[in-house]
Amino acid sequence: DIVREASAGRAPAEPRRRVALTHPDRIYWPEAGITKEGLADYHAGIWTRIAPWITGRPLALLRCPTGITGQKFFQKHAWKGMSRAITRIHDSADPQGEPLITVEDLDGLMGLVQAAALEIHPWGATTADWDHPDMITMDLDPGEGVEWGAVIRAAVEVRERLAEQGLAGFVKTSGGKGLHVVAPLRPRADWAAVKAFTKGLADAMAADSPARYVSTISKAKRRGRILIDYLRNQRGQTAVAAFSPRARPGAAVSTPLGWEELDEGIGPTRFTVANVPARLAALRADPWEGFREAAAPIKAARKGRRG
Ligand code: ATP
Ligand code: MN
Ligand code: MN
Repeated sequence: DIVREASAGRAPAEPRRRVALTHPDRIYWPEAGITKEGLADYHAGIWTRIAPWITGRPLALLRCPTGITGQKFFQKHAWKGMSRAITRIHDSADPQGEPLITVEDLDGLMGLVQAAALEIHPWGATTADWDHPDMITMDLDPGEGVEWGAVIRAAVEVRERLAEQGLAGFVKTSGGKGLHVVAPLRPRADWAAVKAFTKGLADAMAADSPARYVSTISKAKRRGRILIDYLRNQRGQTAVAAFSPRARPGAAVSTPLGWEELDEGIGPTRFTVANVPARLAALRADPWEGFREAAAPIKAARKGRRG
């Protein structure tokens, strides 16, 4: 058990050294002053917290070899010369295809740092069961001119609608512009059913509050509204991992929050590579405590609509 082993008191700096970091002084986030080694230290320090979201899941990476101001590659496949600490896996639906990527331990994560993977984007399913998602992510994308309070209200409404369907919602900042509401699933339903469920929820919100929400990508309709982006919930799609930094100025981190923490004072970029470790050290309880235990199956027959 990777998580337990890492939390059993091994000093984080020790295992981190098993993967060689070349150019540790390379600057990844210039204005935040975070280097490659700084990113490695961040990950080593929060390893037990990020591990459940990135181990044993297919991963896409946002690689930025010269930092956030240079070229960025969104990469889903293993590459030539990839660290041996990173694991190649074959999609169960495409066993002859190009191998995908996952990590199993902190060495794997350090391999990702060495590869300049500034962002880590897992599937909502595990490599133990590729075809039955174990979580859904409702991605709330505010259009131009939407106030932060409206994004918070949208997240709360998503949580309520999930609860009406017997699902527990957990909220995190995206580290970008919005919020993500994540619900643990018992991996029973297939991708088609999970996508249909999340589309139903998004469509219902847009139908009930057309002035506030849209559920289709069309740019024209988004101004002043929040896109309830359910399209993360398709086979092969990803959403940024909890505790992954973002390759954007400020080095914000996608940060799990307690629902009671959601207020105007905590914007989507409030928590960063620089302050998340201190936040975690100061918190009494994990804001997402009980996440896995709360997993329930989706009821495919019912729509997300109210009343
Ligand atoms: P924000 O709050 O700014 O919306 P976000 O992470 O939710 O941050 P989105 O653009 O809403 O960003 O979601 C995009 C998601 O789609 C990413 O999190 C990522 O997992 C996935 N994705 C798919 N293709 C790409 C790509 N080419 N580049 C970046 N992300 C991609
Ligand atoms: Mn988003
Ligand atoms: Mn989106």
